[in-house]
Amino acid sequence: MMEAIKLYNTLSRSIESFSSIIPGKVGMYVCGPTVYGPPHLGHVRGPIVFDVFRRLLLKKGYQVRFVRNITDVGHLVGDADEGEDKLQKQARLEQIEPMEVAQAYTDSYNWVMDAMNVMRPSIEPKASGHIIEQIEMIQSIIEAGLAYESNGSVYFDVDAYQANHHYGKLSGRVLDDLMAGAGNASRELEGQSEKRSAHDFALWKKASPEHIMQWSSPWGKGFPGWHIECSAMSAKYLGSEFDIHGGGMDLLFPHHECEIAQSTAAHKHEPARYWMHHNMITINGQKMAKSLNNGIKVSELFEGNHPLLSRGFGPNTLRFFVLQAHYRSTLDFSQDALEASEKGLKRLLEAFKKLDELTPSAESTLDVDSVIRDLNQALLEDLNTPISIAQFFEIAKFINSAADNKAKLSAVDIQKLKDAVGEYFEGILGLQKTEQNDNHEVMDEIMQILIQLRGEAKQEKNYALSDAIRNRLKDKGIELMDSKEGTTWKRS
Ligand SMILES: [Zn+2]
Repeated sequence: MMEAIKLYNTLSRSIESFSSIIPGKVGMYVCGPTVYGPPHLGHVRGPIVFDVFRRLLLKKGYQVRFVRNITDVGHLVGDADEGEDKLQKQARLEQIEPMEVAQAYTDSYNWVMDAMNVMRPSIEPKASGHIIEQIEMIQSIIEAGLAYESNGSVYFDVDAYQANHHYGKLSGRVLDDLMAGAGNASRELEGQSEKRSAHDFALWKKASPEHIMQWSSPWGKGFPGWHIECSAMSAKYLGSEFDIHGGGMDLLFPHHECEIAQSTAAHKHEPARYWMHHNMITINGQKMAKSLNNGIKVSELFEGNHPLLSRGFGPNTLRFFVLQAHYRSTLDFSQDALEASEKGLKRLLEAFKKLDELTPSAESTLDVDSVIRDLNQALLEDLNTPISIAQFFEIAKFINSAADNKAKLSAVDIQKLKDAVGEYFEGILGLQKTEQNDNHEVMDEIMQILIQLRGEAKQEKNYALSDAIRNRLKDKGIELMDSKEGTTWKRS
């Protein structure tokens, strides 16, 4: 008997007991990155949240096929269905191939995911590699009478769909509101006249000759609309009905609402049983503007090269920071919050180290079983990572009091705690027990030693050695800066 996992389903707006379509197997689809720019703060939370959920399913005995796509055919700028293709825009700025841009940013995205200990997807399909599947799906929607061709583009007919289905059931939006919001000036400029109704959305867009990314289709040269790739690729790899669809709350509307409409139109039933949405990251209390270039790059986070940060933070700290909030709550990002996370994580790691050195007592004076039970229960209850982390602080307290001879732990309980660290802390939360090399604090300690040795070499007038230290650090991307106050360092 598998332990019951409870999960908030956006579709029903309630917490439900999770059961998979095929016993013991889970199909999960998560919307992946649009690879038109470097990984930024907005890319951090979702992958970590869904990675922990995937690890929980795995630990509880499920076989999981985890699909996360790469959007490399270019979203359209802004909320409008038309506009300059984002990939094309970036390519023009950088004067290189759009696929080269996509590949480079896919690589850097995966590098960041690896650093944060996010497991690679079982399948990572690219939109550009699934144009045929997208065209076929659009054709079935046209055959169902729920899409129409107009001037080389194809639009989803929301009014026709609305006759027998509920467009807005996921987001809770009402069509009248959508109508009111759709009539703004910029959208009028962008060829609304092609559509039968303002809230119809593009399945296929006719490409102008200067549009770099375009493919042949039954409707002429063009490119797929933003939403169709996820519907086509999830159905291809997980079946037309699968277990869980995940993404950020910012994708709820229009993206996921459109996915449901498309899949329902093509397959006569909804695509996913559970819709799982994580909340967004705010910066110092402010909403982060996703499409603007004011996001914080993950590399800047690691290195501390950003006006909001006075130093860098390691990926393990970042992961811990994300998991200290429940995934459905907003998470406020600031230097102070990261410092607090780093400090908390350090406290845990130091306690875990002591586990190996504890002298076992005949019996325990602490209730190890109940802490581990609570830890497990919190994860099963809609992935409550902050409560599970709170139990680890309890565990750290246990270890510290046993180390100070203020409490006793039996050999059996010490082993249970070690297993809990392995199974939950490392296994499910995916946190690392050892500090990483890019942890600024560790790095700084090492740098202080080198700076001191170089100072000593200088005093002894061994300039060959002091210059060698400086130059070899420079080769490694570290710059030493001498001033009256002494020597400091930074990554160049
Ligand atoms: Zn998607």
